[in-house]
Amino acid sequence: MTATVQHRPNAHAPAALTKDHAAAHNKLTARLAEVLDAGESIPCLDSPHAADWIADGRDAQDAHDRAVAGCRPCPALTDCALYALAYPEPAGVWGAMTPTDRQTAHRPGDTP
Ligand code: SF4
Repeated sequence: MTATVQHRPNAHAPAALTKDHAAAHNKLTARLAEVLDAGESIPCLDSPHAADWIADGRDAQDAHDRAVAGCRPCPALTDCALYALAYPEPAGVWGAMTPTDRQTAHRPGDTP
């Protein structure tokens, strides 16, 4: 049976994504399903502290620091980081990167 995955930090409705973005997101979601089907853990989905990945407001920095550390052992880290750099999400921790990390790493005009 294939796991159903909604990557937790993603707040976008699929209709709000461009065709390429949606395809890339679907590819990442499929990769996460593979990981879960293999019996491995995805920290942002499985951690009791999963809220750290989507923290907002005053305590967000500490929560994001914990989430970045939590991403490190994720079997999908590379896939998630490449996705997040190609299609920077405005919020949440993706691929061990905070929104600020992604803004710093992604220069306008870069191609996905
Ligand atoms: S790298 Fe981090 S944000 Fe991406 S799927 Fe893994 S735990 Fe979640």
